[in-house]
Amino acid sequence: MEELHPTQTIDERAPAIQVRDLHKSFGDNEVLTGIDFSVDHGQVVCVVGPSGSGKSTLLRCVNRLEEPTSGQIFVEGIDITDPDTELDKVRSRIGMVFQQFNLFPHMTVLRNLTIAQQRAKKRGKAEAETIARENLDKVGLADKIHAFPAHLSGGQQQRVAIARALSMNPDMMLFDEPTSALDPELVGDVLDVMRALAHDGMTMMVVTHEMGFAREVGDKLVFMDGGVIVEEGDPVQVLNDPQHRRTQSFLSKVL
Ligand code: ADP
Ligand code: MG
Repeated sequence: MEELHPTQTIDERAPAIQVRDLHKSFGDNEVLTGIDFSVDHGQVVCVVGPSGSGKSTLLRCVNRLEEPTSGQIFVEGIDITDPDTELDKVRSRIGMVFQQFNLFPHMTVLRNLTIAQQRAKKRGKAEAETIARENLDKVGLADKIHAFPAHLSGGQQQRVAIARALSMNPDMMLFDEPTSALDPELVGDVLDVMRALAHDGMTMMVVTHEMGFAREVGDKLVFMDGGVIVEEGDPVQVLNDPQHRRTQSFLSKVL
């Protein structure tokens, strides 16, 4: 039998995500300057910090939308910075939800949910539609299956985007400010869906300014500033009693 390259084998005991001494530069602008952290299976890690602190870059490095300058990132024990790693396989286990929902405007909700399943997962139409319906049901939008994105509110579009990601059966979900583009009255429904996902045991990494969500749903809160993790810990503890001046200053502005 052909021996597998050791870094190509999913290690069930490994953390879901482990980042070691991650550096990322754009030209001579080093925006991540040595990040170490991990996310365990079933854990919800919320990442907060001022604009420009490197939160999106960190998230994008985790599924290699950005290439790290140095350091290592393990996803379920697989080193995704290793050139031998098949990125498509790793990426297929990571669902990503962005601030802008990025739905295809010319396709119905159903088609938005089935197209990647059929192309990337090679599922047949009927199977893909069944899975799409299940996930639309989960986000409370079963009745919008034939609607076009433009006829949905921002909050509904974001819930469709979450259902689309879930339809690929990811092992973990990355959220980059999923509610930041929404009118305030639409934020709650999206957070409710995310809360339900967390209760179902989904591993989640969530960049957010929603401190209530971080406090209530997060297992860990990571505060970033200037490309480093300044402070991390139990969300209630960090929010109630931040230890670092930069964390205190940030929280005093957002809380
Ligand atoms: P945050 O998400 O915390 O607001 P980002 O990760 O988006 O921060 O950005 C961190 C820094 O990296 C910023 O200074 C930003 O201008 C820079 N940056 C992000 N993406 C790129 C890019 N593709 N090219 C050049 N600079 C970038
Ligand atoms: Mg960002």
